[in-house]
Amino acid sequence: MQNRGKKSTLNFVSSSKDMSLNRLKCLRGEYFTNSCSLCVDICPLEAIYFRQKKMHINDSCQSCGGCIGICPTEAITIESFNIDNFCHNFISDGKNIISCEGQIPCIGVFDRYNLVLLSLRNKNEISISIKECNECEYSKNILEFFLEELKIANSFLSAINRTQISLLEREIKARREIFNRFVNILKGEKKEQISTNSNTPNKLLNLKNELIKLEENPKLNLLDYSLFGDKKVSSSCTGCDECVLFCPTNALFSNRDSSKYELFFESFRCIECGICEDICKRGAIEKNSTLYLEDLEKKKMLFGAEFIVCSECKCGFLSKDKKGVCSLCQEAKIATKDMFKLASEL
Ligand code: SF4
Ligand code: SF4
Ligand code: SF4
Repeated sequence: MQNRGKKSTLNFVSSSKDMSLNRLKCLRGEYFTNSCSLCVDICPLEAIYFRQKKMHINDSCQSCGGCIGICPTEAITIESFNIDNFCHNFISDGKNIISCEGQIPCIGVFDRYNLVLLSLRNKNEISISIKECNECEYSKNILEFFLEELKIANSFLSAINRTQISLLEREIKARREIFNRFVNILKGEKKEQISTNSNTPNKLLNLKNELIKLEENPKLNLLDYSLFGDKKVSSSCTGCDECVLFCPTNALFSNRDSSKYELFFESFRCIECGICEDICKRGAIEKNSTLYLEDLEKKKMLFGAEFIVCSECKCGFLSKDKKGVCSLCQEAKIATKDMFKLASEL
C-alpha cells in the first residue's frame, strides 16, 4: 500500500478580510517541527503572528499580498487574486510589463518559481516595475525579498539560455489608492482556484511541467539555484515512515507490504524545508549534493529493504543486506560489551 503522508479533510484556516492562512499547509503548524517565520518577518504591519503553535492573521492586515510569494508551501492566499490566473491572462493578453498599478496586489506575490515560470511561458521579454516600491509604505522587507528572488530566477534563466526579466522604473500614485483600485477591479471577478490532489505547491508543479518541455537539456545542477531539493537515505533507515508523514509537500512517499518497505522521493516536490532531516531519529536522511535538470521528474527509490525475522529477539525487522540480527539487538550487544569493559576497568 502506498503512503503519501497524512491526509485530512479538515481545513484549518485563519482569515482576515481578503487573506487566508491554511494551517494544514503552514510549515509552522501543530503537526510540524519547522521554525519557519518568513511571513511574519516580511509583513510590514505585524499582522501575522504565532500563538500556541498556530499562525494567525489579525485585522491590521491590509491585504497587501506581500507575504504570498515568500511562503514556500502556498499556505497564504488572497481571495481576490490567483497567481495562475494572472499569469495566464497576462500571457494571453500579450502584455510584457507588470506593475502593482491595478494588476497585482504587490510584487511580493512573485518568488523565484513564479518568475522563472512566467518567463518560460511568455514569448515576449518581461519587465517588472519597482518604482512604486520607493513610494510604498509597505515595501520595507518585500522589495528586498523580491530583488533576491529575481536575482536567483534570472541566474537560472541565463543558465538555460532564456531571456531574463528586467526591472522598470516609472512614477505612479500613492500606494493606498492602488490597493483600493486593485480590490475594486477584482470585486465580482470569478474566483478560480486550481486544485491539486496533493500538498505539492502549484508553483513547483507548474515549473516542473514547463522545465521538462525544454528542448535543450543543459547539464545543470538545480541545487545551485535553490529551486528544488534532493535527498539520499543511509542504510540506518528503519522504515518508520516519520519523514513521509511529516513531509509537507508529499515529496517523500513509501510502499509497504508484509515482505518489503520502499521509500521514494520526487525532487520537483521538495522545497528543502529540512523537516524530514529534523524528524528522522536515525539521522538516515540527508541532502544530496547534485540534482540534474534531466532527473527532475524521476521517481527515485531512496531506500528499499525486506522484512526478515531477527535471529536473536525473533521480531520482524527491515534488513537491506538480509543480515539476521536487528539493529536493536546489535546495539544491545555493543552496550553489554561496553558495560563489561567498564566493570573490568573498575
Ligand atoms: S511563510 Fe508559510 S509556511 Fe512559513 S510560517 Fe508563514 S504561512 Fe507558515
Ligand atoms: S529516513 Fe528516517 S524517518 Fe524516514 S523512514 Fe527512514 S528512519 Fe524513518
Ligand atoms: S526537505 Fe524533506 S520534508 Fe521538506 S519538502 Fe523536501 S523531502 Fe519533504
